[in-house]
Amino acid sequence: MGSIRLLPDILASQVAAGEVVERPASVVKELVENSIDAGARRITVEFQRGGARLIRVTDDGCGMDRSDGLLCLERHATSKIREIADLSAITTMGFRGEALPSIASVSRFKLSTRRREDEVGTLIEVTGGKIHEVQDSGEAPGTRIEVGDLFFNVPARRKFLRGEQTEAANLLQQIEILAVAHPEIAFTCIRDDREVFRLAATEDLAVRLRDLHGESFIKKLIPLSPVENQGVRVHGWIARPGEGRSDRTLQMTFVNGRMIRSPILSLPLREACDGVLAKGLHPPAVLFFEMDPAAVDCNVHPAKREVRFRDPGVIRSVALMAARSAWGSVSQHSVALGDFSPGPGLDPLFPPITKPSWLPASVSQKEFSARELDSARIAELPVPDASGLSALSYLGQLAGRYLLFEEQEGLMLLEIRAARERILYERFLAQLGSGSLGSQRLLIPEVLEMSPADLAWIDAHSAMLEKAGLVAESFGPGGQGSRGGGGGFGKGSLKVDAVPADASSLPVMEIVVRLVDELRSLGEAPSLDKTGREALAASVARLAAAGARMPAGEEAARMLLLDLLSCDLPYATPKGRPTMSQISPGELTRRFTA
Ligand code: ADP
Ligand code: MG
Repeated sequence: MGSIRLLPDILASQVAAGEVVERPASVVKELVENSIDAGARRITVEFQRGGARLIRVTDDGCGMDRSDGLLCLERHATSKIREIADLSAITTMGFRGEALPSIASVSRFKLSTRRREDEVGTLIEVTGGKIHEVQDSGEAPGTRIEVGDLFFNVPARRKFLRGEQTEAANLLQQIEILAVAHPEIAFTCIRDDREVFRLAATEDLAVRLRDLHGESFIKKLIPLSPVENQGVRVHGWIARPGEGRSDRTLQMTFVNGRMIRSPILSLPLREACDGVLAKGLHPPAVLFFEMDPAAVDCNVHPAKREVRFRDPGVIRSVALMAARSAWGSVSQHSVALGDFSPGPGLDPLFPPITKPSWLPASVSQKEFSARELDSARIAELPVPDASGLSALSYLGQLAGRYLLFEEQEGLMLLEIRAARERILYERFLAQLGSGSLGSQRLLIPEVLEMSPADLAWIDAHSAMLEKAGLVAESFGPGGQGSRGGGGGFGKGSLKVDAVPADASSLPVMEIVVRLVDELRSLGEAPSLDKTGREALAASVARLAAAGARMPAGEEAARMLLLDLLSCDLPYATPKGRPTMSQISPGELTRRFTA
């Protein structure tokens, strides 16, 4: 007898659930997308224990009659496509008819729904995929879906859920994305019986962004003038030059209303800022691409996070044009006003780097140059001894950025920020090996506005942040601490008591944003193993170096050089940016030759 069998329906749904439903955040995504497809004007998301205990999504959309309510729990039951041709013109968020049966097969599930025109609604209860109760219900028109004890019957998957805080942060991040994609819908979010946010419906994306992230976030953004080319349109907001972040959490790219992460959408942004923003940084942006639904294939990923574009080239050119024109207008404008100063994230093209004369000839210029640097090789490199140092004469400072020394072989430039980064990195790494970084208590604690998702992330990683010297506590919506005033806005507050000592001259907001941003880029669950400590030390070092003052006078300048040369790997920052460079007499002569 053959061994191929048709899977029973429940089992098939549980298998499909593995693809569609990874964690509470993905359940929320599917449910809220269904509400959006149902034409909801107001959506409420409640969750408990990071969503593992309960997720409840309530909408005021079109609702379903009893037979549709039962049908939607069948696999491949969807009201959104009828024939294969429809696939090429999808305008709804869902279309596979997989989500509800999948979710219902791995939870204690309740669907309560009523169409406006019906006298009574329907309540259906499903446990682990089995319908065991169908009755009348008297809810308001719309649909409410409750997902309890996610994965209660699939222990292997339940084990994969992360801590409550992390799941909650992911979940909030997901709601934030949906709320940004649909400012026209009012969203309310309730976490463990406390309201995290209540966002009023608005036609203005800027209002929605401000309600979520606070006024200071919106000030960092510039609106794109809409660009259109060959049927592809883009509009949205992009950060001002200098506001680069090392992770892409704040880069949201939407295609026809659906959040899509794709290099085709994000690379042009990075490309547009080559030469303006240092390597490894990305501009925060909220971009909406609109195109003929037939030009995108959404049916390549079960959770629809990836798509295939018919013409990636057009998308690239539209994105590039939009970003460049936005920045072009800012820099021209600001330069004209004389207030354009490169922020800490803004590194004008690095000056050409020449290898210092004391390096042996075996190290080629190419090897020295930033991009080729590999720290293992640098560790071979000889360090000039202190006697060599006294032969250097100090010439002064240049452009608020370089120390100039004259040496036998010409002019030696030390880039102050890079040098500090290297010095602090090695110091911090040693400190982290044996404890935490120093922290500086603020005279008056500072209270910052933050989005609920950021606050939840901070709560989930407070131990790590304290190691870095940041002592902060969230309160108000989204936070763990006592409940703040409702106020009708989404953002909550973070009370900062102490900051990393070496960074204390920077604005507190900047410290928090950059630190969180850097740590986030370490991945989902950063830990303090060796790699984690190196990354943390590098992050705080970069931060602290950005806030450091110029060395005052010759003695301080020499100290800095000495500190640098006492490092294990003095020639580059942890990320491989050179700390020193030299202009040889030969090169100077060339410049003054006709
Ligand atoms: P899909 O969204 O891919 O069609 P789902 O399993 O997510 O598949 O949903 C199945 C069907 O159930 C939908 O096509 C829709 O007709 C109906 N449905 C689901 N959620 C809602 C809702 N909140 N309001 C109205 N109808 C809904
Ligand atoms: Mg759906």
